[in-house]
Order: sequence, then structure tokens, then C-alpha cells
Amino acid sequence: MTTRPRVEPRTPWDCAICLATPEEEVHQCHRGHYYCAGCLAGLPQRRCPLCRVALPEDPIRSLAAEQAIAALPSRCDHCALELTFGQRRSHERSCPQRPAVCEAADDGCGWRGIHADLEAHEAGCRHALCRRVLRGAEARWATERDALRSHIERVEAANRAVEARLRRLEERRVSEEEAQRSRTRALSERVRRLEQQARRLPLTSP
Ligand SMILES: [Zn+2]
Ligand SMILES: [Zn+2]
Ligand SMILES: [Zn+2]
Ligand SMILES: [Zn+2]
Repeated sequence: MTTRPRVEPRTPWDCAICLATPEEEVHQCHRGHYYCAGCLAGLPQRRCPLCRVALPEDPIRSLAAEQAIAALPSRCDHCALELTFGQRRSHERSCPQRPAVCEAADDGCGWRGIHADLEAHEAGCRHALCRRVLRGAEARWATERDALRSHIERVEAANRAVEARLRRLEERRVSEEEAQRSRTRALSERVRRLEQQARRLPLTSP
């Protein structure tokens, strides 16, 4: 599928849906009508728009059409360099004359130009300069924030360890108190019994 506004000369492989020359996979109907793979896949009815023949479940790819299209003469939209159709796409992605906007366009720089001039513009653009300074500061803040965060994590882990130790000590204190109380109870019981025995003994006068 293509959304390019360019007007290419008609070729025998032009897609009858988008009317452009297919730039990627070419699929066809049983009667040999060609389409961009994407255009054909997007059809609501599984019939060829030209001959109404049902489209196959597995699309029929036409390598011959793709190779013929790739060899067609074409030219770069930006610099008018003469190329083949197959070379054009990758050239246009790196063409020095392709349109460019400043890296600080979001920050208010309205510069529009071509990639060949971008570096020189950004080197002197105060918006871009601001952005670079800000990015540097942000990177430093992020480093400091990460260091602080890991420091806090270590302190919190140490706190948790101390709390756990306090809890264990408290449990031990409670159980020792409990043991002490039951020892005291046993002792008083023994004293009471001894006193009863003592009262039952015959009194001897000296
Ligand atoms: Zn198409
Ligand atoms: Zn057809
Ligand atoms: Zn170019
Ligand atoms: Zn700028």
C-alpha cells in the first residue's frame, strides 16, 4: 500500500485499488490482476475488484512483477537523482536533501530545512542548545536520584533487620517473664505445703 502523492507513469503492474505502482510484495488474482499485498489484504470482500473472481486463501505472490517493478527507472523525490524503483526507497531514507526539522522543534524552534543543513543549524540553534544542556542536567539528576534511591533501599533494609531483631528480643523477654512467673508460683506452692507440714508437727518444748 502506498500513500505517496507522486504521479508515476502507469505500469502494467499498477495496483487497481490504490492506483500506485506497488513498492513491496505484489499479489495477484487467478486471472493475473496485480495489487499491493497490503491493498488486497485490506479488501472487505475476498474477490478481485476487477474480474470479481474469488481470491485464493493463500495469496499468489508475483515475484516476476516485483522484479520488473524494482528494475523500473525512477527518481528521488527530494534530489531528483535517477535511480531504479528498487533503489529509491533506501536512497530516500538517507537522501541528504530529504526534509528535516530541528531536534528542538517541540521546544519552539520552527526551522525547517534539509538534512544536509541540519547539523549546522542545530550547532547554532539556541533551542537545540537549551535542549542539550537540559538533557545533560537530566542525565546527572537521574544518576543522583538512582544513587539516592539505592541508599534509601539499603537504609530501609537495615531498619527492617533491626526491627526483626527487636521483635525476637521482645518475644524472648515475654517468654522469660512467663517462665519466671511459673517458677515463682511453684516455689510459693512449695512454701505453703512446707508451712502446712510444719504446723502438723508436734510442738517440742526445749
Ligand atoms: Zn495498492
Ligand atoms: Zn482479477
Ligand atoms: Zn535524493
Ligand atoms: Zn533549531
